[in-house]
Amino acid sequence: MKLARVIYLSAAQPDLDYWQAAAEIVGASQAGNTRDELTGVLLAHNGWFVQCLEGLPGRLSRLLLRIGADSRHRQMQFVEFNEVEHRRFADWAMAHVAFAPRIADQVGDDFDPRLYSAQDLLALLTRADRAVRSQAA
Ligand code: FAD
Repeated sequence: MKLARVIYLSAAQPDLDYWQAAAEIVGASQAGNTRDELTGVLLAHNGWFVQCLEGLPGRLSRLLLRIGADSRHRQMQFVEFNEVEHRRFADWAMAHVAFAPRIADQVGDDFDPRLYSAQDLLALLTRADRAVRSQAA
């Protein structure tokens, strides 16, 4: 079966309780993503969401329609929708990742994911995932 990876970014609605919403989204995503064998990570930083989702293309598309209709964010912009051989974030139905302080310093206070390539965003998400794993270990 062919797998696909999607990376998109979006801006949180200005009046949103951003951190609480990110935690709620990740919590509420577990059951549906597990059922649909979708995996990935969600980064919330500086008012932006950056999410990577991996799984079967049809299931990804159906989830993306729901996410696209979600009033908690806007300006959704796809960065990547590609076929892939392997999942990068196979362990998580959905993980809430954050930058380690060193990475946060590198990206700066004015982090804007629109300025990054798909490859660079995937690298940032991977580093954020590693930071969360090392904190948990
Ligand atoms: P319902 O839960 O029936 O909700 C109906 C409508 O209200 C939908 O438009 C829904 O988006 C919106 N809504 C739901 N809860 C709230 C709330 N607390 N505040 C405001 N509006 C709300 N879902 C996943 O299953 N997997 C994911 O990986 C995932 N990632 C997401 C990433 C982002 C950045 C955002 C904003 C949402 C994400 N969601 C994810 C949530 C997704 O948009 C849907 O809310 C969820 O899949 C449930 O869909 P539903 O059709 O059953 O909607």
